Parts: sequence; C-alpha cells; structure tokens
Amino acid sequence: MKKILLLILVSTCLTAVGQVAEYDIVLKNGRVMDPETGLDAVRNVGILGNRIMEISASPLSGKEVIDVSNLVVSPGFIDPHVHGMTNKEHEYQAHDGVTTALELEGGIEDIGTWFASQRNKTIINYGASACHPWARAELMYETAQSKGNKDLERGSNKFNYLPVSPKEMQGTLDLLDKELKSGALGIGVPIGYYPGATREEVYNVYEFAAARKTMIFTHVREGKALAIQQAIADAATTGAALHIVHLNSMSLDEIGLTLRMIANGQKQGLDITTELYPYTAGSTSLESAIFDDGWQQRLGITYNDLQWVETGERLTAETFASYRKKGGIVILHTMRPEWIESGIKSPITMIGSDGMPYSRLAHPRTAGTYARVLGVYVRERKTLSLMDALRKMTIMPAQRLETISPIMSRKGRLQVGADADITIFDPNTIIDKANFEDGLKFSEGIQHVLVNGVFVVKSGKTIGNVFPGQPIYGKHKQ
Ligand SMILES: [Zn+2]
Repeated sequence: MKKILLLILVSTCLTAVGQVAEYDIVLKNGRVMDPETGLDAVRNVGILGNRIMEISASPLSGKEVIDVSNLVVSPGFIDPHVHGMTNKEHEYQAHDGVTTALELEGGIEDIGTWFASQRNKTIINYGASACHPWARAELMYETAQSKGNKDLERGSNKFNYLPVSPKEMQGTLDLLDKELKSGALGIGVPIGYYPGATREEVYNVYEFAAARKTMIFTHVREGKALAIQQAIADAATTGAALHIVHLNSMSLDEIGLTLRMIANGQKQGLDITTELYPYTAGSTSLESAIFDDGWQQRLGITYNDLQWVETGERLTAETFASYRKKGGIVILHTMRPEWIESGIKSPITMIGSDGMPYSRLAHPRTAGTYARVLGVYVRERKTLSLMDALRKMTIMPAQRLETISPIMSRKGRLQVGADADITIFDPNTIIDKANFEDGLKFSEGIQHVLVNGVFVVKSGKTIGNVFPGQPIYGKHKQ
C-alpha cells in the first residue's frame, strides 16, 4: 500500500516536475514500438517498481542500465490461449516473449483454489476463464450421486455426451457465477468437446454471459463455417461478447469465408473477435469427441496425418484404435500454409498459441508461436509489418480483455503508467526453434523479458527463482 502511494506520489511529481532522479531499471537506446500510439523510435525507458515511468529521447539514469541498442523494445506479449499453465511451460513462453498467459478456451476448474495455488509462485502473469464443461459435469455428477449411480465418476468423459436437466442447467449457471466471483475471465465454452450439450443449453450460457456483461471464449462445434455461424448467431441475438479461438483449425478450407463473416459482423457492430496460431497442425486428446466416428471426413485427413506426441510416430488404423482406448495427446496435420497465411494477414486476427502442457515432443506452438510470427511471417515472408504483428500480440488482446478485466488497461502498451511487462528482441535474428520432429526448444532472438519490472529472461537466459507473475482477475472478482 505504502509503495503504491509512493509510486502515485512520484508519478504525480513526475508529470508535475519532470525526471525521477534514478530509476530502478533503464532500458537504454532501444527501438521502442507501441502499437496503440504508433510510436516507433529510439528512446530510453525508465522503470520504477512494476511501472514504466518515463520514455525519453534524453538519457535517463538508473540503478541498472541495460543497453538495448538495435533491439526492439515492445510491450510484453499477451497469449489468450494457453493450456500449459505451470512454470515448466511458462519458461518456454517467457523465452517466446510472453509475459501474460491466459487459459481462456477451456478455462480452469474450481478457479478460486487455482488462483490461491499460483500466488507468488508464478513466473508470468496468469488468468483463466470459468470452465463450462467442468461446471455442467459437476452438476450431473451430483445428480448421479444422489441417485446412487456409481457408473458415472466425477469428471467422466461420459458427461460430455449427456444433456443437462433443467435443474442441472440452473445449477451450472450458479456455479459459473461463483467462478466469475472468484476471478474468472469470462466463460470457456469448448463445445466441440461435449456434443451432449444441446443448442438450448449453449444458448442459455450465452444469455447468462450477456446478462453478466462478460465474454464467451469458444472452440465451436464440428462443422467449420456452419458452426461459426451458430456461435455468431448466439452472440448476436443475446448480446454476449464472443471470442472464437483458433479460427484456423475451426475453419480449415473455409477460412476465407469465416474471416469475412467476422470482419463484416464487426462492421455491423457485433462484439466478436478471433485469433489463430501460425502452424498447419493442431493438437488435442485422441480420446476426445474430435475423433468420434466420421473424423476423417470432417477433418479431411487420415491415420498417417496423426502424430502421437509420446513417441512422435504417425498412426495406423491399429495404433489409432489402441491409443484412443489408452488416451493421450496427438498432433493432427489438417491445415495448408495458405490458410494460415490468409489468417495472419487479416487485420482482425489476434495471435493465440494454443500452447500445450509440457512434453518433450509437444506441439511446437507451445514454445515458438510468437517468434515464428515475427521471424517467419514478418521478416522472411513479409506477410505483415512488424508493427501489425506486434499489434496482434499486445494491444489487441489487451483491449479485447480490458472490458472484462480492469488490469488489462495497463497491459499491452509501452507507455508511461503501463505495467512494466516488456519484451526486447532482435528483429533480425528472432526465430522459433521448436518443431514437429525434435519437439520443444526455446525461441532465439528474444534477449530480455520483464514481468512487472522484474527480469525473467536476461541476455537470453532464464533468471531462476523469480516469480513476478500476478493474477489477471475478471471484473466480477469479489
Ligand atoms: Zn481448441
């Protein structure tokens, strides 16, 4: 409390009287890029505590002065789509320039307990949505228990194939409300994984989100543009804010059409956004509904397009059957480079990695998403400008989320008063190193990463035993 008062005093003094005598950290002579204001110039940045306090063409003095000449000084990257939420994955994310990791697609179960478990133990900022599939399964489990039905275990996949009763529906909304009050960032509705939910159940959740003025994050049902039309219709008629995750794998060959739908919807005033990751393959659990009968037709692939993460092997009809029974993560090579190119080029898409839980051969998006956009799509292929790319990974997710999370108005910006979440990289060498054959590797070219004014990566090396990550709470947090 005293520290914040001091910061306000100094900032008031700063604006009133000019430079602070000495900053904690000065980033000297870097190419400062701020997508919101368009600033792109060589400047010195003064950091005090967890805040950016000055950006100046004149020299600044600091307890620690880091020369970042010829490097880009960018707001830290905000990833709205992460499944790997432990420090094991956060270390890879930090080396990819990510300072805020959010599990918005699937959400986190019992979020209050989770937030408590992460406090002061996390490398980067963290948050999550309320998990709809978990909430509905909890209510159905309670019903099963009350009827002495022992077949249905807590969290069973069977619940994903069952509809809720009216009583369970109300209980689900009450539980989602409790999760919002525990700090959840909107509601995760990965409906593609629980086909048992009826259109009415999903519509009720959209209506609830609209009433609570919060946001829906959705992995839509199977069906490409048709499924996306369903989600847009639900949002448009309820007034719920909607974010469609990984548009690339949801749309496949219909991505041209779905990009137009969302862009036109925005022009019509609909509160809809979307994101994608820069890879031609997806990843998910082989035992999930994604691989229910008809998957080859739906996805336009066959066994050999599936890669088993545990070993890296491609599947056959036999191994598909045995591994699906066993359960586990698979990489599915379903997309074409030109689909990704058109998605990245579009001004309406943000970047979301869909990063997976750690395993040696996990999908490379877990470690290389941001460096890949900046190295391959900006520098090598010139698909988009550096500033446009940074916009997709900083201010766009920040502005999208600040309507449901006040702290996001201080994120995604390299401006005075913003949180000192900063990513410093070499635009001439930045590149992803993780790939489908060799698995996860730290990206290269990302020199320094600060989270709330604390270095978590310095000169390309991990700084151990620092946990400056702060919780990103939703506005309903009590
Ligand atoms: Zn998904």
